[in-house]
Amino acid sequence: MAAEVLARDGAVSVTVYDAMPSLGRKFLMAGRGGLNLTHSEVFDTFMERYGAGADALRPAIEAWSPNDVRAWCEALGQSTFVGSSGRVFPKIMKASGLLRAWLRRLETQGVALHLRHRWTGWNDSGDLVFATPAGEVSVATDAAVLALGGASWPRLGSDGAWGSVLTEIGVEVCSLRSANCGFQVAWSDVFRSRFEGQPLKSIEVAHGDSTARGEALVTASGIEGGAIYAVSSSLREAVLADGSAALTIDLKPDVNADALMAQLEKPRGKQSMATFLRKAVRLSPIAIGLMQELAFEKQQPMTSMPHEELVKAIKQATVTVTGVAAIERAISSAGGVAFSSVDGQYMLRQKPGVFVAGEMLDWEAPTGGYLLQGCFATGVAAGNGARQWVEALAD
Ligand SMILES: Cc1cc2nc3c(=O)[nH]c(=O)nc-3n(C[C@H](O)[C@H](O)[C@H](O)COP(=O)(O)OP(=O)(O)OC[C@H]3O[C@@H](n4cnc5c(N)ncnc54)[C@H](O)[C@@H]3O)c2cc1C
Repeated sequence: MAAEVLARDGAVSVTVYDAMPSLGRKFLMAGRGGLNLTHSEVFDTFMERYGAGADALRPAIEAWSPNDVRAWCEALGQSTFVGSSGRVFPKIMKASGLLRAWLRRLETQGVALHLRHRWTGWNDSGDLVFATPAGEVSVATDAAVLALGGASWPRLGSDGAWGSVLTEIGVEVCSLRSANCGFQVAWSDVFRSRFEGQPLKSIEVAHGDSTARGEALVTASGIEGGAIYAVSSSLREAVLADGSAALTIDLKPDVNADALMAQLEKPRGKQSMATFLRKAVRLSPIAIGLMQELAFEKQQPMTSMPHEELVKAIKQATVTVTGVAAIERAISSAGGVAFSSVDGQYMLRQKPGVFVAGEMLDWEAPTGGYLLQGCFATGVAAGNGARQWVEALAD
């Protein structure tokens, strides 16, 4: 995005360098499950998703809003649509067509591309230094935009190695941590062998003030999926601080406690408790399995639970989370260049003429299109900043 803004009228010579043999690998990966470009909700609600980073991101997102993302995508020949959850996707769902059209347009704008160029820092003359298959290369520039990503899925290119380079020149870099990630849970062998790979559907999860509706997938070592990602920021901080945290799951969020009590009053007869819960309360086998798992942990069989306890076990199933999934498998990362280290246009205070954009900056957001929107908008802002910097040098 920064390259596009800088090269818009050919007045500035722009080169993109990337460590990988091809561009946009994470962008392509993001398109695998449907490229969620942005979200259509009311702007103030939209901005709340950025939590502590909202104030620092607001000017960039106001200037390059969800509507601008859609218009940009459509101008590249990919029409968009709003899904039932309000999320915005290109009609083709995948990222490849959009990326191809985007790279073609950059090429016609005269943007040069150097792949397999890993930026390693600056030399004594202040030039950018790259490690390349042909050896070290240094490049003098009037301005630079760093958009090196966070540290999730490092095999796609962004490994967070830039952190030490920037710390060395006095930039404050907050530690990169898993965001939109799974968590570890010590399931029993019985539960794991029966339910690994299965989703808990239409649940509501809660941790602290964060709640989310959706799905969670039981994995061999824990739990992941959309609803978990949505509360992952608060859950992660609690696990990192205390070593474990309680995740509360409402297995029947659309049925209130009184209605559940009434359903539990039905005669059970000779049915097993699992069959009764499946028929009377319409709980799925995995939901019942989770209740049994938690009852087993508390050494309190469900058959001996009073109805009030059963309602609690359904509405507030409490899973103890014991660890955060590795950043390599997280959708995104929290942490990065502190906003106190950049000015309003994301220029490094320690390195005038060098701008920072995207996931490298210290913000996080849930899935839902907020990540790409934040990256696009800060890319545009950093590109505009670099453009003004270069124009000022020319004056
Ligand atoms: C599986 C998955 C699905 C996702 N789905 C969505 C989604 O649907 N919607 C959404 O909003 N977000 C989604 N995301 C997140 C989104 O893809 C990222 O937030 C976004 O790509 C970050 O953009 P970026 O430009 O900051 O970094 P990146 O896309 O990571 O790009 C950074 C680039 O910098 C290069 N680089 C890194 N270090 C160096 C170096 N030292 N020298 C030279 N080059 C370097 C890398 O090779 C890479 O090309 C998804 C992520 C994953 C992993």
